[in-house]
Parts: sequence; structure tokens; C-alpha cells
Amino acid sequence: MVRTFLVGTFPLRASAGPFLHDAGMLHRLLACLLLVAPGFGQEPIALVGATICPGDGGAPIPNGTVVVREGRIVAVGPRAEVTVPAGVTVVDIAGCYLTPGLIDTHVHYSQTGWADGRPDARDVRAEFPYAQAMADNQAHPERFHRAFLHSGVTAVFDVGGYPWTRGLAAACEHDLRAPHVAAAGALLATYDPKVLTLPDQSQFVFPMSADEARAAVRSHRAFGSAAIKVWLIETPDRPLASLVPIVMAAGDEARRVGLPLIVHSTTLATAKVAVAAGAQLLVHSVEDHEVDDEFVAAMVKQGTFYCPTLTVLGGYAGLYEAKLGDAVRAQLEDVHPSVKERVLRTEDAAVRAKVNTLAMQGMRKHFAQQSETMARNLVRLHAAGVPVVLGTDAGNPLTLHGPSIFVELEAMQQAGLSAVDVLKASTGDAARAMGRGADLGVIAVGRVADLLVLKDDPMQDVRAFRSLLRVCRGGQVYERAALLPR
Ligand SMILES: [Zn+2]
Repeated sequence: MVRTFLVGTFPLRASAGPFLHDAGMLHRLLACLLLVAPGFGQEPIALVGATICPGDGGAPIPNGTVVVREGRIVAVGPRAEVTVPAGVTVVDIAGCYLTPGLIDTHVHYSQTGWADGRPDARDVRAEFPYAQAMADNQAHPERFHRAFLHSGVTAVFDVGGYPWTRGLAAACEHDLRAPHVAAAGALLATYDPKVLTLPDQSQFVFPMSADEARAAVRSHRAFGSAAIKVWLIETPDRPLASLVPIVMAAGDEARRVGLPLIVHSTTLATAKVAVAAGAQLLVHSVEDHEVDDEFVAAMVKQGTFYCPTLTVLGGYAGLYEAKLGDAVRAQLEDVHPSVKERVLRTEDAAVRAKVNTLAMQGMRKHFAQQSETMARNLVRLHAAGVPVVLGTDAGNPLTLHGPSIFVELEAMQQAGLSAVDVLKASTGDAARAMGRGADLGVIAVGRVADLLVLKDDPMQDVRAFRSLLRVCRGGQVYERAALLPR
């Protein structure tokens, strides 16, 4: 309770703006807060009777017991072999399935889930000023924290956004009503979409030379970025050959300062450059061509994680068509009412009237082709031994923080991965991809007790994650409904 009291009452969020930009002050504060372990003072519990799905690809344990003390797992095994110590509260979950918390390795707290966060996709700034949308995101990240936990997501990797997002890692680590967060901060971008910056701050830096890329990496390091994210996009005035030295320098400097390089590269050509630069995580599928032997071999050799983000394009399609699909509509009761209200504006009559039906048919056809390529690439890379991880790209239009994870889980299974493979990709391997392989993502002794209780069997079909009953975050057990973002 001591820990919760400290974190819960410190005015971190209220003064987040100027405060979080003072890295020295933040680090001094953290030095105090981190002395207290997660779950400190919590009542120890034993979750008893469920089939335990460990998350590392290991065999399930039927009728198992997990003992949790001070936020961490202290015993795991078959019920007959694990003695529950006296004084430990037993939570009977017989007949259920226990998995690690889900981990989304591709999210953005600097986006909203709708067009107000992406005016480059649909310009709604006259009614919803971009600066206000971004200020609201900074002031109220708890809307997304709660939506993540309510959908079973207990850790996220924010792979690019405004500088303040870096402060989420410390603010959330011991907040048992938020997921663990690792954040990259501003993206090193090769292309400027113009409308996604604000007069006083930007979620991009634009290194124009190798030296500028190195300087940006060192600054990110000093300010506490968890990774170096490169937004590698070719444009007619900046062809790939001119970008290679910049990306290589960013990768080399990231290695030098001890940060992982993660890259947005959606074409085979850019993805090859990313891997050559030392990328440890590709945050999207290769979607323009089928991957070739050279690329597969390079990914395997380097052990680069591959996050396919299969469903985010569908969200853009819905926005452009001014039409919510059933999959999005079904998520609206699981997000904050303010998010639901905006998302419903997708179908504004005035916008729908202007949609060019013929152009939309062409776009849908193009997306369908891309999706086929993405599915084939996913299966091929996975079969070759590339570690695949789940990521939604939550925050992009109609890809909602939290419940979009169910759609992505199912898309990965639909693409051809087994349920067991998808489980590993969204827990144990995802934890490694966000740099938390030692303490998250697997049900094992010593790990943080982030756990999900499901009614159905996720090793048969990942749709079982929709049968989520309870969420355990750092040893604190919640009925799912108690986490509804409100
Ligand atoms: Zn993204």
C-alpha cells in the first residue's frame, strides 16, 4: 500500500507538461519512487485450478497453481506439487485458462484512435484542433491505460510520439491501473507530413545528414528514450540511396549508446536497409513485395523481431470510406466515452456524401492485395525462425487503444499462425521485443505477475481472449468490468 500511496498521490500527471521535460528532476524523483517494489505490501495470493499457458511456447500445465507475492510470481506448477503457504489468499479459477498479460509492441499515446490525431488522413482540425487533441492525450493518458488493461493488455511499446510520452514509462511502471510502457519518443523521420507537428514541439526530428542522425540519437539517449525509432519513408525528392547513410549512422550510434534501433519500413527495399543498419524490430509488415531469401536470411541472422500490424490499414480504409465496420463498432463499449464519441463522427453525413465510391473500391482492392502479401510474408518469416510479435499500431484512425488487440490476434491466426504461436508472439516474444524479456511476458518464477484469466482455451483459438474474465496487474486482481475506462 505504501507504494500505491506514493505513486497515486504524487502530482506527476497534474504538472506533466513542464515537469516531464526536466529529465534531471524526473530521474531524481524516480530514484526515490523506485526504491519500492511493485506490489509491495500487497496481500499474497494463489491462483488455483486453471490450465496455465506459460507464454514462452512451453507445454501448458493443467490444474495448476501460481503463487504471487509482492507483485511477482514466486511459485508455478501443477496443483499437486505446489504448496500454498499459510496466510495466502486462494483465488479459485478451476476450469479457466491463465495466460501472461498481452503485450502490444506497437502503440502511440500521441494519437487518438481517430482523425483528430491524424489530420493528414482526414482533416477535422476546424472542429477538433490538433493542438487540443494532443494536449488532451498528454493530460489524460489514463483513458488509454484503462482501455488497455480492460482488454488484457498489460504492457505496451510506444514506438514514436511527442517527447512527453517518454515520461509514461516511469509514471506507469508501478501504477497498477496502467500497463507497463516503454517509449521511443520523437521519431527520426525522413519525411515530414507537416500537419503532425505543433509550433512548440514535434513528434519528429528530421536528420539531414549522418552527423545529425548521431546527434539525435545521443539526445534521445540523454532524455530517456527506450529505443531509436526511424520512420524510413522514401519520397521523390529523397530517394532511398540518399537516406541510407542517415539510417546506417542512426543504427551505429544507437548500438554505441546501447539503445535498440526500431524501424518503420513497409517496403522490401527499405526493410533491407533497416536490417543492414542493425534494426532489432521492424514495426510493420513488408507489404509491397514477397520477402526474398536474402531478406529472410538477414532477419534470421540478426534475430530481428517482426511486428506485422495486419489490421491498421483497415482502419484507414474505414476512415476514408466514412464507414465503421462491425469490428470497430463492437469495440466502442470498451473504450473511453470521449473516444467513442469521436469515432462515431466517422460516419458524419456531410463526409459520407463526399466519398468517391469508385475510388474507394480501388483502394479496398489495393488493401486486399497488400493484406495477402502481408499474410504470406508473415508465415514465411515465422517458418524461417524470425521472432514474430504482435502490434496493433493503436492510436491510428479506428485502431483503438485496447480492444483492437483482439482483431490483430485473430488476424495473425487467420494469416496462418497457430493459436500457440500467436500466444507466444503476444506475450513472451513481445516482452523481449520491448526490452522486458527478463521480467514480463511469461508465467515463471521471478516474473512480474501480469496475468489473464480466460474462460476459453487460447491454445485452441485466440478468439478465447475475448472471454477475458479477470486481469492481474502486478499482483492486483481485477474483475474485467472494474477496468472499464470511464
Ligand atoms: Zn505506428
